[in-house]
Order: sequence, then C-alpha cells, then structure tokens
Amino acid sequence: MAIVDYSQSGGCDVWVLSAGSVRMDGGAMFGVVPRPLWERCYVPDERNRIGLTMNCLLVREQGEVVLVETGFGGKVTEKLREIYALDESDGLLASLEALHIAPEEITRVVLTHLHQDHAGGCTVQEGGEYVPAFPNATYYVQKGEWEDAENADGQTVNGYRYDEVMRPLSPVLALLEGNERICSFVEVLVTPGHTRRHQSVLVHTGEDTFCFVGDLIPTTHHLKPIYVMAYDLYPRQTYLVKQEIMERAVSENWVMVWPHDPDIAWGRLRRDDAGGYEALSLFAD
Ligand SMILES: [Zn+2]
Repeated sequence: MAIVDYSQSGGCDVWVLSAGSVRMDGGAMFGVVPRPLWERCYVPDERNRIGLTMNCLLVREQGEVVLVETGFGGKVTEKLREIYALDESDGLLASLEALHIAPEEITRVVLTHLHQDHAGGCTVQEGGEYVPAFPNATYYVQKGEWEDAENADGQTVNGYRYDEVMRPLSPVLALLEGNERICSFVEVLVTPGHTRRHQSVLVHTGEDTFCFVGDLIPTTHHLKPIYVMAYDLYPRQTYLVKQEIMERAVSENWVMVWPHDPDIAWGRLRRDDAGGYEALSLFAD
C-alpha cells in the first residue's frame, strides 16, 4: 500500500508514504550481528535478502507542504533492480496523486542524506533531461553530505547518482551547516554515522514532535544499539549517536518515523525491562 499511515496532529496533516519496496542483504543490514540473531527479526529469502520499504514523511500545514525523503524514483540500473527486487509500482508520485497533492504544491524537500534510495526521487526525466520532480520546492541537505557525495571515492560512489539526481538539483538547493530550523515547524539535527553529515528531521506540530530518524535507525529492529548496518561509514558513531537520540526521544515523547521498516512506520519509544528501547506502534487501528 502506498499510503502507509496518516495522522492529524496540532492542525497539521501528517502522512507516511511508501516510495516502494526493496530487498536488501540481511547481513549488510545488521553489520556484525550474526545471522542466527538477525533472522529472528526478518526471515531472509534464498538469496539472504530481507524485505524493506522506503518510507517518506509528508506534512501539510498552513500553505506549506514538506516532504522528507523521496525513494529511488526509478533511478537504478536493471541489474541493481533485479539484485534489490526493487518494486516502485506504487511509488511516491502515485501516493501523492492519491492524496490529490500535485508535485508543484510541495514547498520543501528535506533529505537525510543523498544515497539513491533516499534522494533518487528528487528528480524526474523530462524530454531526455533530468529536472527537479517538485519544481517549486527548495531541497535541503547538509553541506558536508553534498560535498562528500560530490567528491565520492571508490568506497562511496555507488551510493550516489550524481548526473541523474545531484546535478539537476544544484539550482534549487539549500545547503545546511549543522542543526538548523528550516521553517516554523521543521528543524534538522545532524546525526552522523551512516554518513559523515547524515541528518534527522524534526517536525513540530504543536501537539507532537515527529522525528524522521533516517538511516541512523533504519527499522525498529535497529533500536538495539549494536544493530548497526554494515553500510554505515562510521559505525561507532552510529552506535553512540543513536543512543543519544533515543534517550531524547523517550524524554521528549517524540514520534519516531523509520525509513525502511516494513511493519511499523512510526511509533513512540519507551525503555524496556532489559534497559533497552522498544517501539510502540502508533495509530495502529
Ligand atoms: Zn537507506
């Protein structure tokens, strides 16, 4: 289903939309955690892959329509599409259409980082050229993330799509330097680990604070501090920053939004009996 969940909070409309499904290598998703442990979270297929989603957050409030993340947006080679079993048949643009929200109405697009499964949908092909998919939006990302993607090396280059995604965004880009408020109800927090300048996005509705946590905590099964993806460039930092964010999420009662969880799109956190954290699914009716 393309529209995963909806809530009204403090006068805002808040949706989680799916940009499609993808199958990723289970070992890579859980880093140093041995398979007998992670396969209790997700049963892998015969190619060791687990099924994930690409969730996006959409918030509408007083003339602003803010989108957090965009999925692959079709920008993936046939070979990778097969390896990842990528299914975008019910993608982000279809979800927006179902909500009667035109791409032109999006005022801001906020990206946690520029990896293709998060930023690919920022552009569309028009007459053989790639152009911004949301033509009236300003696109936000950390300056350091942009620079790292521009200067990608052999270890990092495959995560990015420079010609198809980044170059066309250059004219509509706002590069952020650290924690910043980008409009009255959206702020970003730098949460490094997955990449050097990965950021999480806070949406304050007046009633609730939603935290789109990005790949700092890709699914609810990554609430365990040592469940850190092998994709992370700085896993030790993920381990440390994740715990800081979870502590804040509990004390400030945030609604967390997970980018890749196929079962629980959002929920509040609480301390469990073993001193860890658990997610309480929200609006699960
Ligand atoms: Zn991701």
